[in-house]
Amino acid sequence: MLRGAWLGLLLALTATPVVAASMNALRERAVTDPRGLIASVRHQLDQAGSTLPPARERELLWGMGTAAINSNDDAALAEATLRLNGLATVAHDPVAAAAAGFLRARHDIANGFGDGMGEALKAANRVLGEADPEIVAWARFQLCDAYALDEKPSKALPLCNQAVTAYRALGDDYGQGDAENDAGIALATLNRVDDATVAYERARQHFAKAKAEQLVVMVGDNLAQMYLKLGRAREALALSQASLKQELASGRISDALNSSTDIARAEAALGRHRQAYARMRETVAQARKAGINGQLIDMLQVESRLAEQVGQLRQALADEREVVRLSSNIDTPALRAIELELEQRYAAREKELRIGELEHANELKDLQLKAAQAEAARRHEQQRRQRLVSLTIALLAAALLLIVGLLALLLRAQRRHAAELQAQTLRDPLTGIANRRAFQQRASELLGGARDARTPLHVLLLIDIDHFKCINDSIGHPQGDRVLRLLTDHLRGTVGDACFVARIGGEEFAVLCPRMGLTAGMRLAEALRAGAAALALPKDLPVGKLTISIGVAQFDGVRCHDLSSWMRAADQALYVAKSGGRDQVAASKLAG
Ligand code: GH3
Ligand code: MG
Ligand code: MG
Repeated sequence: MLRGAWLGLLLALTATPVVAASMNALRERAVTDPRGLIASVRHQLDQAGSTLPPARERELLWGMGTAAINSNDDAALAEATLRLNGLATVAHDPVAAAAAGFLRARHDIANGFGDGMGEALKAANRVLGEADPEIVAWARFQLCDAYALDEKPSKALPLCNQAVTAYRALGDDYGQGDAENDAGIALATLNRVDDATVAYERARQHFAKAKAEQLVVMVGDNLAQMYLKLGRAREALALSQASLKQELASGRISDALNSSTDIARAEAALGRHRQAYARMRETVAQARKAGINGQLIDMLQVESRLAEQVGQLRQALADEREVVRLSSNIDTPALRAIELELEQRYAAREKELRIGELEHANELKDLQLKAAQAEAARRHEQQRRQRLVSLTIALLAAALLLIVGLLALLLRAQRRHAAELQAQTLRDPLTGIANRRAFQQRASELLGGARDARTPLHVLLLIDIDHFKCINDSIGHPQGDRVLRLLTDHLRGTVGDACFVARIGGEEFAVLCPRMGLTAGMRLAEALRAGAAALALPKDLPVGKLTISIGVAQFDGVRCHDLSSWMRAADQALYVAKSGGRDQVAASKLAG
């Protein structure tokens, strides 16, 4: 809400600096203390009577009239215009008539009565032709002010600018302040915020120069609203705070409430919503207390917006309802329609909030779900790892078992191989029977248990093939091997299990017969010899006859007292058989 229009006052025609100073005081008081000024003018007129110069009377009446308009004092306004018209008639003063006309016009425009603007134009017509530039400047300003009040900013603006120029020419700072302020109002109405800001800033400078401090602050209120629109909330806040301070100091409650409202707007613009809302609640409470209903509507609207911003929707709705109720010029169906619209708006807003809450709850649930999924995935991964570990352990165990099994097999094979090797060391590869080493082992075992006794009567037969060299030479070495194997079979087949047969040299065999006794031994040797000689050799073996010589020795414990002496004895007996003509058996003599 823009304030401060209609600040202009008629200039005194006497332009002495003292009077000009008193004029400015009058002009400012009409705005800042209208009731006081009205009372003061009445008092001065009563006191002075008809002694007052007409120009001074006109000046005082103009001041009273503007103060009456500013304070909505219809009685004082009627009194001022009546007296001005009287003065115009008596003193033939067109300026007084114009002043009365401008006051009526202003009243009518403000209240929407009749043709206020026509009245203002008529009043201007009376004086625009005057020679006095101060009167012309004043008239131009009054027209600018009237158009601004009539909400015709496009028409007001050129007139305000003309007034500014005229006042500048006169060096009237107060007048320039007034005109710039109205220009600012017109520009603000045209939404030319930047230009309006410049105009208000200039108005403040002029009022400051004219030392009209209160007006500096009042224009500051207008400027603050521009700053708010331009996003310069801090500057707006500073201006409104300065206003509030001054208004409270001079007890102008209504203006103070307006400034407080502006402060709340600025705080809201700075993002301090809660602070702004608290201030507005307090301001509205004070407005109610002071019974200022006109401003209450504006304040309630601000409070409603702030309440909405801080989420106090019920309060916002209550405020808007009260605004509607307070607006008396709205009829009931329209009121109901507005209420309905408001209810729908807030219902929609509450729905939005509810949706917001639900969305928030959904987000929470979503997060919980994601957390649960993550946990499940973690457990699954853990189980997978456990399974992997178990599987690895099982595989390792299986591998270990396999290795152990293989090792066991290897060990067995190795043992078998070792046994094989062991056996091979004791066996004659050509004939498959025991070799010399096996014979010695066996004979030692036999002698080990019965070294002293004669009773065991062990008999040893040493057998040598006769002229084997010749056989080899005639049929070849491999065939000689066949002969060796044939003889082996014959020996083993003949002795059976009773004796142990071994090949102890090239074509030499030993037959060890435990506890056989020499007689039986000799018999066996003879059987072996005869059998060999009678062997039916294969036809492809071109050997006429196979004969063997055998030496027999019985272990007697005296002459034959160990293996080598026993062997020696048998060998000597064999030598005897050989030298006796071969193919025969000879026995070693027994001891004593
Ligand atoms: P004698 O004993 O009757 O006095 O005559 P001999 O010809 O048998 O004499 P000697 O004992 O000196 O010769 C043995 C021969 O046996 C010599 C050698 O060639 C042969 N001999 C030795 N070992 C083997 C063998 O493993 N295979 C074959 N085929 N001949 C062998
Ligand atoms: Mg021999
Ligand atoms: Mg021989």
